[in-house]
Amino acid sequence: MNNKNEEFRNVSKPHALPIDAILADLRSDRDGLSSDAAARRLERLGPNRLPEPPKEGQLKRFFKHFHDTLIYILIAAGAVTAVLGHWVDTGVILGVVVINAIIGFIQEGKAEQALEGLRKMLSLQAHALRDGEWRETDAEQLVPGDIVRLRSGDRVPADLRLMEAINLRIEESALTGESMPTAKNTEAVRDDAGVGDRSCMAFSGTLVAAGRGTGVVVATGAQTELGKIDRMISEVQTLATPLTRQMDKFGRTLSIVIVGMAALMFLTGWVLHDFSLDELFIAAIGFAVAAIPEGLPAILTITLAIGVQRMARRKAITRKLNAVETLGSVTVICSDKTGTLTRNEMTVVHLVTGDGRYDAEGSGYAPRGGIHREGRQVTIADHEDLRRLVEIFAVCNDSAIVEDNGQWRVIGEPTEGALKTLAKKAGFSDKGYQRLAVIPFESENKFMATLTRSSGKGTRILMKGAPDRLLDRCARQAGKNGREEPLDRSFWEEQVDALGARGLRVLAAAIREVEEEKDELAMEDLDREMVFAGLVGIIDPPRPEAIAAIKTCRQAGIRVIMITGDHAGTAAAIGQDMGIGSGREAVTGDAIEAASDEELGRMAGESDIFARTSPGHKLRLVQALQARGEVVAMTGDGVNDAPALKQADVGIAMGIKGTEATKGAADIVLSDDNFATIERAVQEGRTIYDNLRKAVVFILPTNGAEGLVVLVAVVFGLELPLTPVQILWVNMVTAVTLALALAFEPSEPGLMSRPPRKTDAPILDALFLWRIAFVSTMIGLATIAVFIVQRRLGMDLPAARTLAVNTLVFGQLFYLFNSRFLHESSLGFSRLFANRVAWLMAGVLTMLQMVFVYAPFMHSWFGSASQSLRYWPVPLGIGLSVFLAVEAEKALLSRRT
Ligand code: ATP
Repeated sequence: MNNKNEEFRNVSKPHALPIDAILADLRSDRDGLSSDAAARRLERLGPNRLPEPPKEGQLKRFFKHFHDTLIYILIAAGAVTAVLGHWVDTGVILGVVVINAIIGFIQEGKAEQALEGLRKMLSLQAHALRDGEWRETDAEQLVPGDIVRLRSGDRVPADLRLMEAINLRIEESALTGESMPTAKNTEAVRDDAGVGDRSCMAFSGTLVAAGRGTGVVVATGAQTELGKIDRMISEVQTLATPLTRQMDKFGRTLSIVIVGMAALMFLTGWVLHDFSLDELFIAAIGFAVAAIPEGLPAILTITLAIGVQRMARRKAITRKLNAVETLGSVTVICSDKTGTLTRNEMTVVHLVTGDGRYDAEGSGYAPRGGIHREGRQVTIADHEDLRRLVEIFAVCNDSAIVEDNGQWRVIGEPTEGALKTLAKKAGFSDKGYQRLAVIPFESENKFMATLTRSSGKGTRILMKGAPDRLLDRCARQAGKNGREEPLDRSFWEEQVDALGARGLRVLAAAIREVEEEKDELAMEDLDREMVFAGLVGIIDPPRPEAIAAIKTCRQAGIRVIMITGDHAGTAAAIGQDMGIGSGREAVTGDAIEAASDEELGRMAGESDIFARTSPGHKLRLVQALQARGEVVAMTGDGVNDAPALKQADVGIAMGIKGTEATKGAADIVLSDDNFATIERAVQEGRTIYDNLRKAVVFILPTNGAEGLVVLVAVVFGLELPLTPVQILWVNMVTAVTLALALAFEPSEPGLMSRPPRKTDAPILDALFLWRIAFVSTMIGLATIAVFIVQRRLGMDLPAARTLAVNTLVFGQLFYLFNSRFLHESSLGFSRLFANRVAWLMAGVLTMLQMVFVYAPFMHSWFGSASQSLRYWPVPLGIGLSVFLAVEAEKALLSRRT
């Protein structure tokens, strides 16, 4: 490696210079930097990150919480009470206004932190050459001089001057607005070429649409072209979903209605009864404060944030919050096979050549175990057919296996890793082979080919890939004793079917000699002249947890469809092992191709396994399923899966295997690529939706009951059982304690035995409206009754009001335990104690009520009064009655349905 001291020079016009000049300026070379040099450069230049867009100032964010209907009402109320000389009330009201803003500010901060955390989990990775080895590095660690490798689907991690470009096409819309990918090469261009014309450059933030390439980093962070135009590519997320947005709108409309009702109440009270203006004004304010559900938006936001955090802990990272809700209505999950349903740990177990069959021992990537023919161990030295097959698979290969602390793992593709392990088991060495050109593997082609020169064997094309694709390109085969003979296609197809029926992934190899001096490889070179060399069967065991998850999905009314690039027989056999498709034949990509939209719709309704598909088929399948009214979740990893993921109701990208392009198009990213995680995400999605609804159904009756109390008092000309500041107190303490508990609510039992939620089902269905009305009336009337009875019995006003407040609060507290289950009974030890936060909050609330009742300063601020112990059973008894009444209602309704 060269002397990579830090005195490198910034290259001002890298697109106009030859690559060697740039490498020299950057004090780098084709072997990349050492990790020491990179670390020093990183320290000097800072991380490869765009400067964060300026955040809203904390003060501005705090004051935003004063921009709210309720707050305006409260401020007006504060002003009026001041004019009337009720200074204590003014103080309390303004105090509450400030506390309310503080609570909102803190909750919003927490929720945003949660989102920020999710964003960080999706950090960009890059392949950089360090210390002479390809390493996966955090893109933020890249420095000028690093050599970086690009593959289709990658997001370019920094500005690169390309030194190798194989069919490389890059989509630069992030920078130029042009959505058609531009072809890239390595030739320098004129120094006045515009960004869009610098074809030898790959710019940070753009997407590799196809091909491969290598380049040297010439600019990082703010120095990149993207940094210069100061545009962030990550979309800004807001904590909102259709449900919360709908509730927001509902809340706003409700506020206006309530203000109108308060005015009406004011007039009624004035005309019908001899209330003083002063009293009426207090009552109207009290009513508005009581009935407006001001805590609701904040609680919904927090519930959502806690939900997505919980989902992320369970390895499903939410990119678009709408998906959280949609997950609960998913009726079909379309999943890739390899790596999602199976383990993606490939081992070659069987080989077939024109001369015979072989078995390979061992499991995983450890090169332990021999190769056998008819029960006897064999070597490649004795079997030329075997040697040739192993040679093609090992040399036409971009991956490697390495041993780390006794564990063998693959760097690169698992399929290719399995072939490398096979080569090592067979004792084959790939030294002395020179690669002159390559056609890389793409899902569309399903094969890879190299032009390779080796001593003694001349120049040859080596090719490996899906058997059907290779058979199409071969007219001859390597037969017995290495003799070439005409291709016996039906023999090979039988072999492929037999291996596939065992659930093995089948890969074929082919070879052709070409003229010695040939140094380029084109698709036309892979014509019918290739010579078929044989097959291998690769085992990829199912993930046991995925089998269980498929079963759960079925119980939850969700169909699971397997979509794979693999052979139909293999797909059907694995499907059978996993409980997909019940052993029926798979539909192939060719059949999808030939089908009309209607036919495809029918196929999508009948078949659960689609094999030999290309990414384009996925899009058509999603559309066909959606046309049948299904809500579709679709997984993907390759760059060409992006359109299907976008079209799907929930697009799911693989976090490990997936390309940046798919992650960018996805709603959810799985950090473990596992099907079982999708099932858990559905479960979490259903839980979050449940919890949002529970929050609504819990909070609205507090407002309903309070509003009712004030309304009844004014209409019947009674003393007010609650003053505005007392109502503020109740709302404040229940919002920070009880409502928050529901955000931590675990999944309901039986959650995954319910059918998916209908997308058009309203949030506030009839049962909900009934429950809200029922509970509001119960708690409201009980509060008024307690107040009137105690006043009649001679209790003084502050004490009676204190008792009324306690009745309201404890009614809510007991009702919280009803709300934890919307339909099911809350009775039973395990159900009552499942959510510890609920109990903690109940404890906190009781303490707060103690302060309210017994602290002298509360007496002067909130007009409360000490209460003798013998009165406590009243609110507790009423609370318990509310609880039992709602349980009885649930039991009755569930019996009727
Ligand atoms: P899934 O869509 O379930 O992830 P898959 O991984 O089998 O399935 P692809 O990666 O598109 O889908 O592979 C399709 C076929 O291409 C495989 O069945 C195999 O025959 C062939 N193939 C896979 N990887 C390679 C490779 N590295 N080189 C050559 N051929 C390959």
